[in-house]
Amino acid sequence: MLGAGSLGCLWAARLARAGVAVQLILRNPARLAAYQRAGGLTLVEHDQARRYAVPGQLTDDASPIQRLLLACKAYDAETAIASIAPRLAPGAELILLQNGLGSQEAVAAQVPQARCIFASSTEGAFRDGTAPEGEWRVVFAGRGHTWLGDSQDDTPPSWLSDLQRSDIPHQWSPDILSRLWRKLALNCAINPLTVLYDCRNGGLSDHATEVATLCAELDQLLQRCGQPAAAANLHADVQQVIQATAANFSSMHQDVALGRRTEIAYLLGHACATAQHQSLVLPHLAALHERLRHYLDARGLPSH
Ligand code: NAP
Repeated sequence: MLGAGSLGCLWAARLARAGVAVQLILRNPARLAAYQRAGGLTLVEHDQARRYAVPGQLTDDASPIQRLLLACKAYDAETAIASIAPRLAPGAELILLQNGLGSQEAVAAQVPQARCIFASSTEGAFRDGTAPEGEWRVVFAGRGHTWLGDSQDDTPPSWLSDLQRSDIPHQWSPDILSRLWRKLALNCAINPLTVLYDCRNGGLSDHATEVATLCAELDQLLQRCGQPAAAANLHADVQQVIQATAANFSSMHQDVALGRRTEIAYLLGHACATAQHQSLVLPHLAALHERLRHYLDARGLPSH
C-alpha cells in the first residue's frame, strides 16, 4: 500500500483483518519511525477502535512488488510511483484509487510493464488528527462501494476474492472509464460551485440555472469523448445528489476550508483540458475553471 492516508489505511486495515498479507510503504525514515511509534494503524468503525499491526517499509526497500495499491492523492501519484517503479516485478498489478481522471493514464505510461487497474470508490474515510495515534487513526465515515476495471483487458484478477473476504464491497466493472467520467462530471457540476458560493451542497438549489447550464456542457463533453452512458440523465442525477446530500459540504469545499490542496487538475481541470483537446468550446465550464483558479490563488492554494 503506497499512500497510507485515509483511504489507504481503510483498505489496509480491512485486508489485514482478513489475514491478507499487506504492508504499508512509507516515503522516508521519519514517516516510518512515526508509524512504528504509533504501533500500527487504528481503524474506527461503528465507534469501535481497533489497531492493526500492519508492517511498514520504505520506498527503497529491496523486496520486489507484485501487487500495489496506490492510494495517494491524484497530484502525488506520478512522484509516488516513480519512487517504487524499479521494484515492480514483471507482470505486476497496480490498483489506482485516485479520484478524477488524468493521473491514472500518467501512471500507466510510467510503468508499461505493469497491469493498471483503475478504481472508483464511494467509500468515505478521514484521518483523526486529534487522537494520540494522530494520522494513523482512520475513521470509516461512509459505507460505499468500489468499482474496479481495466479498459485494456476485462479479465477480472484472481485476487478479487481477497477483497470479498476482507469485506470490501466491490464490483469488477469493464466500463470503469464510464464510471470515472460520470463521477468526474458530477463533481464538476457540484463541487466548484460549493467552493465559490461557500455553501453546503443544498445551497446550489439557489443556483439551479447555473447548474443546469454546466450539466448541458458536461453532457456535450461526455458525448464527444465517446462516453454517452456517462452522460445519460446527468442533470437529473446532479439534482438528486444535491437534494440527497443537501446538508453536506463537498469534499472540495472541505479541502479549501481546511487550507488543503484540492484535486482540481484531475476534475474540472481535466474536463476543460479534454474539451480543449477535442476543440470543443464550453464557455461556462471554462469560466467556472477560471473563477475557481482565481479563488484558490487568492487563498494561496495550488490552482493546477
Ligand atoms: P490522504 O488522506 O491525503 O492520503 C494520501 C497519502 O498518500 C498520505 O498518507 C501521503 O503521505 C501519501 N503519499 C503521498 N505521496 C507519497 C509518496 N511519494 N510516497 C509515499 N506516500 C505518499 O488522501 P485520501 O483522502 O486517502 O485520498 C486518496 C485518494 O482517494 C484521492 O484521490 C481521493 O480523492 C480518493 N478518495 C478518497 C476518499 C476518502 O474518503 N478519503 C474517498 C474516495 C476517494 P504523507 O502523510 O506522508 O503526506
